[in-house]
Amino acid sequence: MRIALVTGASRGIGKATAIELASMGYFVVVNYAKSEKEAQDVVREIEERGGRAAAIRADVRDRVQVEEMVKNVESQYGNVTVLVNNAGITRDNLLLRMKEEEWDEVIESNLKSVYNVTKAVLKGMLKEKWGRIINVSSVVALIGNPGQTNYCASKAGIIGFTKALAKEVASRGITVNAVCPGYIETDMTKDLPENVKQKMLENIPLGRAGKAEEVAKVIGFLSSDASSYITGQIILVDGGLSL
Ligand code: NAP
Repeated sequence: MRIALVTGASRGIGKATAIELASMGYFVVVNYAKSEKEAQDVVREIEERGGRAAAIRADVRDRVQVEEMVKNVESQYGNVTVLVNNAGITRDNLLLRMKEEEWDEVIESNLKSVYNVTKAVLKGMLKEKWGRIINVSSVVALIGNPGQTNYCASKAGIIGFTKALAKEVASRGITVNAVCPGYIETDMTKDLPENVKQKMLENIPLGRAGKAEEVAKVIGFLSSDASSYITGQIILVDGGLSL
């Protein structure tokens, strides 16, 4: 059974991805930082549908916690061959008002975390001679967004990381791709002011926000054998927002 690790899988896109990967037959490690109950509920939901999963806490900003999590997963279940770097946060502010903590917290949660988790699982993946790494970036990495210099920088960093690592590991049977969601209905976007939501909707050719499950389907494809000839690519799942 292939082992998939989804970071930030207690809610939103990560949760939908965990459920999708479990339905494809992977054993899913549901990582979370704070939302223990929600993560246990995701495991229960997967098991009720006949899948297998386990919830494991680790703050992905913290290299030591990440290494411990991966060590535990490898000793209990086996090497991780599908990694979805999904955990992420926003701390929006105009640059002139942005505190250093807001900058650092976003870069550490969204970008440093990708270094921490990918590095920790890569040795095991190389041993398996097969792997899929999917990094969750964002459409705003490509088109920008006022109030999100920290977030856009972190998400654009993920794109550079994806392309560089794709070239490093291609000869070892491992593909590395990124997905860029647009405006997706999750906890992250539920508190956006109504006028901001409205403006975004006006710019989406498909005329609606996306669902976490619609992103999860694409991640599922990139996690499968069906995507064997795709690497280093940036796939937009944005209803046309970036057009
Ligand atoms: P969400 O509903 O706010 O969920 C975020 C998840 O990340 C939670 O499971 C949270 O777990 C986890 N997380 C945050 N910090 C963590 C840390 N330090 N260590 C471990 N887990 C951590 O967000 P979402 O909307 O599903 O977003 C998922 C990803 O998609 C993010 O990378 C986000 O930037 C990206 N994205 C979202 C949208 C959108 O419109 N929603 C658009 C583009 C890109 P805890 O609750 O346990 O902290």
